[in-house]
Amino acid sequence: MNINRLIGVFVAVVLGVVSPAMAQEVGDEQLAEQRDTTAVKRDVDSLAVKKSDPVHAVRTLGLVSVIDTLPTENEALRIVLFNDNTWRYVLSENYKQDSTVFSDHWNVESTHAYTDVETASLPEAVAIRLVDSLKSYHYPFLGKITSRYGPRRGRPHQGLDMSLKVGDPVYATFDGKVRISKLAGNYGNLVVIRHNNGLETYYAHLSERSVSAGDWVVAGQQIGLGGSTGRSSGPHLHFEVRYRGQSFDPERIIDFSTGDLRREVLLLKRRHFSIYSKFEQDFDDEIEAEKQEEAERKAAEAIKYHTIRSGDTLGALARKYGTTVKRICQLNGIKSTTILRIGKRLRVR
Ligand SMILES: [Zn+2]
Repeated sequence: MNINRLIGVFVAVVLGVVSPAMAQEVGDEQLAEQRDTTAVKRDVDSLAVKKSDPVHAVRTLGLVSVIDTLPTENEALRIVLFNDNTWRYVLSENYKQDSTVFSDHWNVESTHAYTDVETASLPEAVAIRLVDSLKSYHYPFLGKITSRYGPRRGRPHQGLDMSLKVGDPVYATFDGKVRISKLAGNYGNLVVIRHNNGLETYYAHLSERSVSAGDWVVAGQQIGLGGSTGRSSGPHLHFEVRYRGQSFDPERIIDFSTGDLRREVLLLKRRHFSIYSKFEQDFDDEIEAEKQEEAERKAAEAIKYHTIRSGDTLGALARKYGTTVKRICQLNGIKSTTILRIGKRLRVR
């Protein structure tokens, strides 16, 4: 299938006119995905979360590279075409360019980018939308957990270890941009990805890295192969999740027994950054878990978006939604002087 034919299919898909012949070429699985994403495009403004259903992993992408990106009728979405004839909806670069996620504390040299951020300076609790309605998520690897987050032999173990065989594929957890890809001391071969949701994920002890700093990656894309480089006593993946440099128990977001993302919205509390704060403790404490669940549901319901129309100003939006310009800027990682483009979606609450 040549590239023009591919684009024809994709454009047809966007317009919702897919002939059976085309359908066969694209594949049933992908068609199902297209139907879903058509709904996604319609619903992109109504991201209300009813309850915290787990999010299943997307289809795995192998060692792919991007051959082209295409606009869609929705300014926020682009279609990315890969060299293995697969494709994916992603947030458009335009949409991301006003966000400070990929510029604030962006550092491709230092393993940890937020060294000057004090835990005490972080909010008491923050609601993080892990995935938007594209539900772009994939587990990094699924294997026997050999060591959990928490203190270990007097040292903080800031991630989770899963045993693997050297050469097993390791996948990007969410869409994002590679910040670090290097040999990094105890971590061995390390890949760090910063995601649209503001989190960073760390993949350590790899035998091979297949991405470089600055590469845009999507969930489920292979970023390297498992190994035993660095401070490691045998082949395993050391996986960390960090928010503004602070690690927390990866089991808070991923159920490693199923590979599912536990929830779409995570209510991350400052106390979760303690090395002693483990997901299973909350889980054991039913009342605490229920409270957390309820708080997460409320946090998800409270999140509200506004699509910029002609004449909108940050001041007017702040009044309309009973908030402040400062808060809207914080929520979206923009400056008060950022030009509001019509059609851009802003989180207002
Ligand atoms: Zn480890």
